[in-house]
Amino acid sequence: MKVHDILNAHFYCDACEMVKCMEEIPVKHYQMPNGYLNNETEVMIKGRCPNCM
Ligand SMILES: [Zn+2]
Repeated sequence: MKVHDILNAHFYCDACEMVKCMEEIPVKHYQMPNGYLNNETEVMIKGRCPNCM
């Protein structure tokens, strides 16, 4: 798996239901409690895309 896929921010438009990969938005790596392994962190930002403004 590429690093790009492990820390990935997406934008979801709740008007047209378009999902876009936001490569320019950095995703932080969360510190996990003991006993937990973080394989993947996904951030979903919801709102309106430029087409639906
Ligand atoms: Zn939209």
